[in-house]
Amino acid sequence: MHIHWFRQDLRLADNPALFHGHQDKILPVFILDDINSEQFKNGAASRWWLHHSLKSLNESLHGKLRFFKGDARKILLELLWQTGAKSIAWNRCYEPWRINRDKEIKAELRQQGAEVSTHNGSLLFEPWEVRKNDDSPYKVFTPFYRRGCLELPPPRELLPKIDIKLATVEVESESLDDLELLPKIRWDKQLQPHWNIGEAGALQQLQEFLDNGLSNYKEGRDFPANPNVSRLSPYLHFGEISPNQVWNAVRKRGDDKNVDHFCSELGWREFSYNLLYHFPELPYKNLQPKFNAFPWQNDNVVITAWKRGQTGYPIVDAGMRQLWQTGYMHNRVRMIVGSFLVKNLLIDWREGERWFWDCLVDADLANNSASWQWVAGCGADAAPYFRVFNPILQGQKFDKNGEYTRHFVPELANLPDKYLFCPWEAPTEVLSKAGIRLGEDYPQPIVDIKESRERALAAFSCL
Ligand code: FAD
Repeated sequence: MHIHWFRQDLRLADNPALFHGHQDKILPVFILDDINSEQFKNGAASRWWLHHSLKSLNESLHGKLRFFKGDARKILLELLWQTGAKSIAWNRCYEPWRINRDKEIKAELRQQGAEVSTHNGSLLFEPWEVRKNDDSPYKVFTPFYRRGCLELPPPRELLPKIDIKLATVEVESESLDDLELLPKIRWDKQLQPHWNIGEAGALQQLQEFLDNGLSNYKEGRDFPANPNVSRLSPYLHFGEISPNQVWNAVRKRGDDKNVDHFCSELGWREFSYNLLYHFPELPYKNLQPKFNAFPWQNDNVVITAWKRGQTGYPIVDAGMRQLWQTGYMHNRVRMIVGSFLVKNLLIDWREGERWFWDCLVDADLANNSASWQWVAGCGADAAPYFRVFNPILQGQKFDKNGEYTRHFVPELANLPDKYLFCPWEAPTEVLSKAGIRLGEDYPQPIVDIKESRERALAAFSCL
């Protein structure tokens, strides 16, 4: 008998570790290890997603997925002893705490005589494969992707479909509900209609993107109301689909500018993992040490306004409410709300990182920390500090007809386009015709955009 330890590979197809063990009878297990993860345990929205993803996987495994919670090391040793399994396999994860834990687990299991094998089930290229000629890691995206990734042999082909023979052995385990992944106060109900969670849902989402999004991805991906982005990020994070499945399906559509651009976004994902692997302090330490002296403000009033989508800047508020209502935010808007928090409000990027970690269904330690460092300007290949997004111009450019903003900020629905992104400039009669009393139905702006930009530039230029 062989144990397959499911982690961030919650799928049956194109799963290298599962493929490795499939000749044997398989005991599939999942362990919720909130002990070793410490401050990096899943946030609330991720836990909600995980619950549904595990439910779906368990159905595909005819109810035979065994659930555990606690220290994975102890649980696996005990399981080996209880079942007499001869071998165990898993797909590698790259969060620093998991790397450290897994190394120990591997050594201990081997000491007990088990055959242990680990596989690459979630990246196109292993972080240690993509290195510069002098063997150091890349810190700039374009050479990382063009010279590093694209000059390696292409990502592997998909694995053949397998027949899984499930072990029938009795083991003491928990139920999915015992993992208590769902919130006690059921705020999650609003997330449900936006997603079809699980492996089948992931394939459906991919198909939908291939049919309706990809053909205008390069231009359309910047407009949050357009259906051009894939929304595959949570499925990729939890491994309900492999990046190889996505890469291969997209590549089959040819190599036009849209395909190339989409593949390069998968390349950004690889870049984030590469950074996290080589710089394990990425989630909490500025990659550029000069930022350690930055005079961040600690103003709970503005932080709360930002979290609640009540800043008075409609595109920022639309993004923050999309996050709260759906567990997702469009990439362009993530950059806008991030820049607003860090630059206009001068709040430490780690504050935003923590909120995203808790609210995003695609919360991913590598992508989230690398992206926040990028937005703040303290990361690798980061946006320069003087690049401060103007939320009025960003709204006017990327949500010209206001479709996205009006959807998430319905109190502004009747405001004419001209004032939609700067309601404080609207004459009183325009506001009253649109049914808005500024400061009551919708907030006054919490900072002045010009002054706050200058304050940010002054603070950053002292570094
Ligand atoms: P698509 O445009 O369809 O892209 C396809 C895939 O490529 C994505 O699913 C994702 O896996 C990858 N990708 C796309 N853009 C990026 C990027 N900039 N960096 C890394 N990978 C990318 N992404 C996460 O998956 N988890 C996070 O926690 C996360 N936090 C972010 C925080 C901030 C402040 C910012 C600016 C970006 C963050 N991103 C994060 C990156 C990006 O916004 C999302 O990956 C993307 O919006 C997901 O939507 P999609 O699947 O429709 O993307």
